[in-house]
Amino acid sequence: MEPRRWVVKLGSRVVVPREGREPDVPFLRELARQARALREQGHELVIVTSGAIATGLALLGLARRPPAIAKQQAIAAIGQIALMDAYRDAFQGEGLTVAQVLLTHEDFRHRERFLNARQALKALLELGAVPLVNENDTVATEEIKVGDNDNLAAMVACLWEADLLILLSDVDGLYTADPRSDPTAERIPVVEDLDAMEAFAAPTQDPAAVGGMRTKVEAARRAASYAIPTVIARGREPDVLVRLARGERLGTLVRPKAKRLTARKHWIAYALKPRGSLTVDEGAYRAVVERGRSLLPSGVVRVEGDFQRGDAVELRAPDGRAFARGLVAYGAHELRRIQGRRTDEIERVLGYKYRDEVIHRDDLALLEEAKAS
Ligand code: GLU
Repeated sequence: MEPRRWVVKLGSRVVVPREGREPDVPFLRELARQARALREQGHELVIVTSGAIATGLALLGLARRPPAIAKQQAIAAIGQIALMDAYRDAFQGEGLTVAQVLLTHEDFRHRERFLNARQALKALLELGAVPLVNENDTVATEEIKVGDNDNLAAMVACLWEADLLILLSDVDGLYTADPRSDPTAERIPVVEDLDAMEAFAAPTQDPAAVGGMRTKVEAARRAASYAIPTVIARGREPDVLVRLARGERLGTLVRPKAKRLTARKHWIAYALKPRGSLTVDEGAYRAVVERGRSLLPSGVVRVEGDFQRGDAVELRAPDGRAFARGLVAYGAHELRRIQGRRTDEIERVLGYKYRDEVIHRDDLALLEEAKAS
C-alpha cells in the first residue's frame, strides 16, 4: 500500500476503558507499536484522542461530570496532562516523540488560524513527531466548541487533507439497526449512502464519552464531503491499524461520493458556524442552485440572526430547508434594509454600496454539492 496520511481518533472508552481508572498504558503501548509499524511503511499519522475528561474524573475520584462548565473545564485540564503523560511514556518506548495539539472550533473558523494549524501539523510531522490532538476543553466554551472528537477528527482530516479517517471506539461499525435494542441488527461493511444511516444513529449514554453513532455519522459525512473515506472500527480489535493498512476489511468503511470541494468552499460549507440565515424566494433559489448564480438582495425575503459583513450564514429555500452556506457582503442590519430591493437601489437606501451581490458565487457553497456526486 502506498504511503498515506491517516487521522486516527480514539474515543474516551478506548483510552480509558474503565470508569474511575486512568489511561490504559499497556493499550497505548500497543497503539505505539502499531504507530511505529505504520511509520516504517511510510504512513503518516495524526492521532485525535479523547479521554481528558474521563482521566480527570478518575484522578479526582468523581463518578460523573459536574454540571458547572467551569468545573468541566478544570477537570479537562487536570486530565489532559495525565493523558499526554501516558501517551508520551507509551510512545517513547517505541522511540516515537509525541506532540500535544489543542484546538477549538475557532481554529477552523478563521482562515488564517486554519492555515496556521495546518502548517503546524505539517511541521510536526516533518520533525517526525506524532501529533496528539484534542479539543482545548479548558478554554472552549459552548459557542466556540466543536463539542465532540469525531467531528474534530473529521475537521483535522480535512485540514490536513488526509487520505483516511479512522474512528476507533467501543463499537465495531455501523449497523442496520440499533444493536442494543434490535437483535437482528447486522454490521454494514461498506456504506455508500450516509443519508440512510441517520435514523438509528443514537447519541451515547456514557457519562464520560460524548459522541455515539450520531457524531460518527456526522464526522463521516464531513470527511466524505472532502472525498475522504472513513473507517469506523473497534479500537481494541487486535492490530486494528496494521490490519487496515494491509487492506483488511474491519468495521464499516464509509465511501465518499463527493468529488473534492475546493478547500475554500469546504471551509465555507463545513468549518464555519453560520451566524444567521437568509431565506430566499423561488427565483433566487433556482438561480443559485440550478444556474450557479450569486445571491442578490432582490431574492432575499427574510433575514434572521445578528451577523456582520463577512460572516457565514445559511441559505434557506422558500420551504425553510437549508441548502447552502455563504459569506455575506452585508451585515444583518444592512440586509434588512435592502432585502427585496434591486441592486441599483442599494446605494440609495444605504447611502453606500459594497457590491451588487449579497453573497458572491465564490463565497457560496451548496450543501448538496458537498454531499452528492
Ligand atoms: N475532548 C473530550 C475529552 O478529551 C472528549 C470529547 C469526545 O469524546 O468526543 O475528554
